[in-house]
Amino acid sequence: MNEAYMNKFLLVDLNTLTSREIPLSRKMREQYIGGKGFGARLLYDLLAPGTDPLSPDNVLMFMTGPLTGTMAPAMRGCIVTKSPLTHTFLDSYFGGHFAPEIKYAGYDGIIVQGKSDKPVYLWIDDGTLEIRDAAHLWGQDTLESNHAIKKELGDDSVRVVSIGPAGENLVNYALIGCEYNRQAGRGGAGAVMGSKNLKAIAVRGTGIVGINNGSSFISACDKARAELDASPDIDAMKAGGTAGSVDFANETGLLPHKNYSGGTFEKSSKLSDIGQAKHLWLGSSACMGCPIRCSKMGAVRTGKYKGIITDMLEYESAALMGSNLDISDVRAVAHLVKLCDLLGIDSMSTGSVIGFAMELGEKGLIDSPEGVELKFGNIQAAEYLIKTIANQDSDLGRTLAQGVKKAAAIIGKGAKDMAVHVKGMEAPAWGPRGASGMGLAIMTADRGACHQRAFPIAYEVGGVAWKGQQMDPLDTVGKAELVFSLQNYSAGLDTLVKCDFGSFGISGDTYGLLLAAATGQEVGETQFDETGERIWNLTRLFNLREGLDPAEDRLPRRFVSEPLPDGPHKGHRISQEDMDYMKHDYYSQRGWSKKGIPFESTLKRLGVKHNESYTQ
Ligand code: SF4
Repeated sequence: MNEAYMNKFLLVDLNTLTSREIPLSRKMREQYIGGKGFGARLLYDLLAPGTDPLSPDNVLMFMTGPLTGTMAPAMRGCIVTKSPLTHTFLDSYFGGHFAPEIKYAGYDGIIVQGKSDKPVYLWIDDGTLEIRDAAHLWGQDTLESNHAIKKELGDDSVRVVSIGPAGENLVNYALIGCEYNRQAGRGGAGAVMGSKNLKAIAVRGTGIVGINNGSSFISACDKARAELDASPDIDAMKAGGTAGSVDFANETGLLPHKNYSGGTFEKSSKLSDIGQAKHLWLGSSACMGCPIRCSKMGAVRTGKYKGIITDMLEYESAALMGSNLDISDVRAVAHLVKLCDLLGIDSMSTGSVIGFAMELGEKGLIDSPEGVELKFGNIQAAEYLIKTIANQDSDLGRTLAQGVKKAAAIIGKGAKDMAVHVKGMEAPAWGPRGASGMGLAIMTADRGACHQRAFPIAYEVGGVAWKGQQMDPLDTVGKAELVFSLQNYSAGLDTLVKCDFGSFGISGDTYGLLLAAATGQEVGETQFDETGERIWNLTRLFNLREGLDPAEDRLPRRFVSEPLPDGPHKGHRISQEDMDYMKHDYYSQRGWSKKGIPFESTLKRLGVKHNESYTQ
């Protein structure tokens, strides 16, 4: 049957420098669809319980979805592994053209396990694998290694993912650079890659992705594009990417300022899309098949950083490396974020870690390095910290490379009160004290503090109705049901590895039509909700198996004990009582015990089994 799956994964074992193909079973396709679903099931099955994330036994997977590489809009790829930052399940998404190339080379995903005894990179040329020496690439930044590999292979159209020095040095929040301006940033997948002595993966594919029913698929694509075009938010996204959210977050009091102490920044407009365009933006580019082109490529045109080629900053980086550090010069922020991308560390976690260090420095809880004053607004200090964290060339850099949770434990002196994280992952740029549902979403996300597993803010302060009504942002009633529904649906669609921004306005029904036409599978009305709920329970089982204490389903002290000092929700916090109420309501919605453990009846209903191999 002609269909959009390639029906096999490539598994590379770096211990033995061998590879084999794993067939994709029908059971796996029907129950987990692709992307996050495949990754969650394979991680549970392939990883021995209690595996150290930076040991050779961890697995690193580059997964696609059934629609990746087709003309369906905005389909990308995701990396799944056990995170060194949180020791939980990690899925980290990437755009660009690498994921489609995996499909064109004939695979639904690439799985890497083991560790090479010297630096190597993988060269996958359609069905042929070569494991090549990478000693000469070790130490290069993400772009240098990308260029060098393309030159070495004599083909500029080869698609490459690579790590920078931070990944080589096992920084817990090291990223994987995907082509020129896309990163799988969160959770430290780059450190897992570095721990395997794997510098890069290059892929060239010349195959095609089959479609089961071509005319139905074209109709479904037309419908998806029409829905995307009709979305009220699409023009802003096309014009300025996610940077337009800076003003929205500031107006609603959710913008992090000075290590999340405040929720507004008086100079926020300098960091917004319009503020950035004065200095940065020249033109748009896109991930494969995306009509939105949210990536605003360009160069810094004025000032000290003139000439740096960079993207317009997306919202999270603009906020966490800008307002969160009290830095308003967007050219400097672009420079700092670019440095993170090149050295290979997540600019979100890094912005949070630097804010933490600046606050500790101002309070005298850590010493400033010689010649560098650790204080908010100091661009030179931020640059110093990025370099020393990535290069691991100072005690402070080595401590901060652990992430704020572990760094606070090392520093002591009450530093944990200033460490803003959930389960070890630094918080995103949406301080939740003015939106309690967002607080619940962040504290229950399966990979630690994450705003993308559910985004209730849209219903709390964004003007979108939930079941025909606006939600009170400060009320806790009903937030569990909202978060439960959004998490399930989001995890369900993450099986397609669709972009969160390239999916605005596209309905679940339309995604169902796309999936059915592409694969020939029957797709039910509640397919994505059910699949998402199944995945959410599987990742919970994985996290519990790996030692997660459900008491970690909680917000950092700053959001619980310190009322917001500014903005429309000034004086509000999410109290311990609010947290407990929402958490227990949420566990109940999920069919989990009061201790946060899935009931066997819930697992049975969803067909989630502890011990059943999907890789035979
Ligand atoms: S919206 Fe932006 S990030 Fe998403 S697929 Fe399109 S270009 Fe890529």
